[in-house]
Amino acid sequence: MSQIALPYFAKGEVVKGFGRGSRELGCPTANYPEDVVKKLPNEIECGVYFGVASVDKGEVHDMVLSIGYNPFYNGTVRTMETHVLHTFENDFYGKELRVVLLGFIRPQIKFNSLEEFKQKLREDIAYASNELQKPEYVKYKNDSFFTD
Ligand code: ADP
Ligand code: MG
Repeated sequence: MSQIALPYFAKGEVVKGFGRGSRELGCPTANYPEDVVKKLPNEIECGVYFGVASVDKGEVHDMVLSIGYNPFYNGTVRTMETHVLHTFENDFYGKELRVVLLGFIRPQIKFNSLEEFKQKLREDIAYASNELQKPEYVKYKNDSFFTD
């Protein structure tokens, strides 16, 4: 199972994604460059994860993160995209994003409609928010990884 590689720590610069308007779906996703994605261990399967994240050593927030080939868009490149559960005043392209993957939510699914995708996203976020209240996960917000 994918869980054996967790928690998984990653950091890297936020780069431009495919500009296909995930923001319009109400879900901006901060993309990592390929070198960060390539470091992922093999045991980490494609799918949606929950965890915690910070931007430029700022406050640590809850997040959901997708690893995969983006089947909805018939993607060919593996990606690692983080949706931080926080409202930011500005974009943070070029800044350093630190993430800790803590749990697996579900494998990649091919969605048949935008509505289906949005509904699943709401479920993912609800599940993540609930899980991330557990002390075993909350403790990672104070991990030295975020201050080093
Ligand atoms: P791209 O295709 O360039 O990744 P997106 O529509 O996915 O574009 O938007 C991602 C960008 O939105 C991030 O790189 C970041 O700068 C910004 N952003 C603003 N708020 C958030 C958030 N809560 N989570 C993730 N990214 C956010
Ligand atoms: Mg994105």
